[in-house]
Parts: sequence; C-alpha cells; structure tokens
Amino acid sequence: MITIQNTDGDRRVLLLDNSFALDESPDFPEYLFDVIFIVNDTVEETKAILNSINPITSTKCCYKPLFVASALKGKMGNYDEIIDGYADDWNSMEVLAKVESIIEYNAKIGLNAQEDPIMSSNQFFIRLTRYLISRKKTVLEPRLDVSASTGYVIPVFDLFYRLGQYELSDYFVFIQSMSEKGLFRATKFVNKVYLCPSCLHSHLLYIKTCPRCGQSSIQTEEVIHHFRCANVSPEHTYNFGGQLRCPKCNKILRHIGMDYDRPAIIHTCNTCGNTFIEPKTKTLCTSCHKTHDAEELIPQDFNIYEITSEGKQSIISPNIGFTIYTEFYDNYIEYNRFVSRIRLLAEQKFSGNITGDLLVGKIWILNEEGETMPIRPEEIELVCLYFPNNKVSAANNITYVGSVIRDYAGDTEEEIINFQVMMSETLRAAVPILKPGEKICYTYMKLQGNQSTIGDFIKEMDYISVTPDDTAVYAPVEESQKQ
Ligand SMILES: [Zn+2]
Ligand SMILES: [Zn+2]
Ligand SMILES: [Zn+2]
Repeated sequence: MITIQNTDGDRRVLLLDNSFALDESPDFPEYLFDVIFIVNDTVEETKAILNSINPITSTKCCYKPLFVASALKGKMGNYDEIIDGYADDWNSMEVLAKVESIIEYNAKIGLNAQEDPIMSSNQFFIRLTRYLISRKKTVLEPRLDVSASTGYVIPVFDLFYRLGQYELSDYFVFIQSMSEKGLFRATKFVNKVYLCPSCLHSHLLYIKTCPRCGQSSIQTEEVIHHFRCANVSPEHTYNFGGQLRCPKCNKILRHIGMDYDRPAIIHTCNTCGNTFIEPKTKTLCTSCHKTHDAEELIPQDFNIYEITSEGKQSIISPNIGFTIYTEFYDNYIEYNRFVSRIRLLAEQKFSGNITGDLLVGKIWILNEEGETMPIRPEEIELVCLYFPNNKVSAANNITYVGSVIRDYAGDTEEEIINFQVMMSETLRAAVPILKPGEKICYTYMKLQGNQSTIGDFIKEMDYISVTPDDTAVYAPVEESQKQ
C-alpha cells in the first residue's frame, strides 16, 4: 500500500507499508507530499524500507519529516538517527507540531528538498550534513561500537557506511578538510587510535613475535640473578626437581632480595630457539587479514566536532562554496596516511627494497608579515593537477607532494631537476590565487642518512624553510593582462 493523504494541518503525508522504488516511480513526484509515514510494525521490514526511503539518500524524501510506527520505539538501533518520531496517528498534535517545526526551519534556512541522485562519497557527506543541520543536530560525537569499522563511529554516519554509501578513506579526508576550512570545529579530543594501513579498520590483534624468525610461539619467563656467583640465566635453568638451585655454583637459592633477584623477563622462541628481551609487536587485521608492524599503523584522532555557523551557511548553500579534493583528485590523501606512507617508503629505501631518492615537496603562502596562511582549496587543486602521479596532502598550512625518484639509469639528478621545475611551474600557476602582499614558496626535502634519521625527516616535514628554493609574488591582474 502506498497513498497520499491530507493531514489536519493541511500537509500531505505519503503513507506506505512496504519497500517501494519511490525515487524511480513516476506516480509519486517529489512535490506531491511533505511528510513520510511508514506504517509497518516489524523492525526488519521498516529498516529495509528506510534503506531506500529516508530523508538523506532518497532524492524525493530529502530533509522531509519521517515517522514510523510507535511499536518500534527503542528497537530501531542506529536507524533511530534518521527517524523524526514514532506514532500511529499522523493527525496527533505531537506529529503535526513536529512536522511544522521541521518544514518551517528548512524554509527558514533555505534548505531545498530538490536533490540529485548521489554519485559520490562527498555528495553523500554533504547531504547527510545538510540533514543534520535541518534537524539541529550539529554536534558530531563518536561513540564506541564493537561491530563498527573504526571502533569509534558517529552512529548516523556508520548507519550509511554499512549500506555502502562511502569509503573510510573518503570519510577521514572529508572530516579533515571540513575542519581545515573552519566548517567543522573540534570541541573535544576523544582518543587517538591506530588503524590498519590497508583497510583503515580498527579491529586488530596484537601479536608478539620473535624478532629473528617472526613466529609468535614464544615462551616468556623471568631471569634469575644469583648474587653470590653473579650468574644470570632464565628461571628454568635454576629448577632442579622443584628446588631453586644455581646452575653455575650449585648453591640453593633461599630468599629473594637476599641471595637472588629477578631483574628482567626473557622470551624464548619455540620455532628458532632465539632468546630476546624485546619481542616485535605485529598486528593482524581481523577485517582484511593483513599483517603489519605496529609502527606502520595509521594514527587517527577522534574528536567531537561541531558544525560552525560558517559551516551551516556554506553547507546549505546550493552551489557549495568549497571543493573537496577527493571529489576530483584521487591523488589527494589525508595527512596521517601521507606521513605513514613516507615512513614506509623511507624504511623500504634503507632496507634496500627500493633504490632511488625519496623527496617531499612543500608549498606554502606567506603574507606581508611573513606569517604562513591557511591552505586554500585552489592551491591543493593546482598541486593535485600538476603532480597527477604523486601523492598530495596538506596540513600545518603546508601542501605536500611526495615523490620517489626511481634509480632507473643509475642517476637520479635529472629527475630531481624535473621535480624542481614542476614545483616552480606550480608556483607561477598559483599567482592568481595570491592576495596583495602575499608570496608563495616551495622547498623540497631529500631523505638522506639511515634508518635512524627517518624520525627527524618526518619531524622536519611539519615546518617551512626560511630559505625557499623558489618563490612567486602577488601580481595585480592589470599587469598580467598587459603581457
Ligand atoms: Zn624465532
Ligand atoms: Zn650461583
Ligand atoms: Zn585491514
């Protein structure tokens, strides 16, 4: 059953009791109804209906008030996030009042119901954020969920992640770029967690392994130090028929602290017999089943975010006044992932798995006072465009380009010069985005040294150079037109 009826408040309510391809149906155009009422008492059937008929992803139901049967109250899990109320009578005072308040608020903030089908993760994020603004839910709080991809999730986002609406990497870039543009503001730090570098899930098993052969069948025991003869060896070497006796001098050990102590623990590998103090921690991802060293995991901060008033305006505006780089450029990655990638490449280089040079280019804008300026979307777009085969990222008011110069002909000098030329060309191309008094600069870092210098190299990435390799300054439009 699917019908449209008038409410006592003179609104038109779409009533339906089972799944229906509403968006594709020519019989129920968007302008014929104002409210959706799902008249079904079963949880699973109502969830199935909501998967396509909801105020976020359905083109015809966008931002419209939606109600389900009162019998389902408290039973809908995360679907509760997209339901405006539970009721059986669409003419009850409560429902009518809620309908009016939502419709009036949407009209006031200029949220138009007409939307296109969702074609990308970012379009989906915009739609969901608009919906949250429409419902005045402008605080995004991650919660712990044992069954969720990243452990901490914002329930309404996770609901749609499970329906296949977006990729996790796009989600992290979205949150990062919204906060860099001041449209979201982190109001409280929740936790820093470490994600699988392959799939970004958080459900990892931590495994202690033998640093020599990598196996995890390890025995752990304490080491005993016999004061009298200074013998130090694992506890089992002291065990003679249930008595603690020194394997070197044969004396019986009596009092801990008086004639012996246990200064350390030691691990012995059951596979290769190696004994060692520090086992190597590896992680096994329960989602993608890949194994990684603990150092390779991607750190991810989870914060409570608030949509700022600038964000509300910008997000609701029909020609959204910002671009999200991943919408157009698949070489843009979030900064945490960029750093992890550089670290991995650096380790690969020093362990001899790759030859050639590892470069990181940095671009930044300075104002008249010599202060770094916040990153501009156009700046990132240019860099993505000029370096289509490199990874690009941004943070600390710096835009980054990562590059591995492969050692094909045994000489990387020419390739490095090409990289410098491209960086300079990018600066020239960026002149039109500069404001009076500003200049745009670049420098590049080349990884040198050995394993122990990786940390310093990565630290240095956070900072601009006082002696840039090249700069370009603001030029008034009239002058460039004369040329
Ligand atoms: Zn071993
Ligand atoms: Zn002894
Ligand atoms: Zn994984």
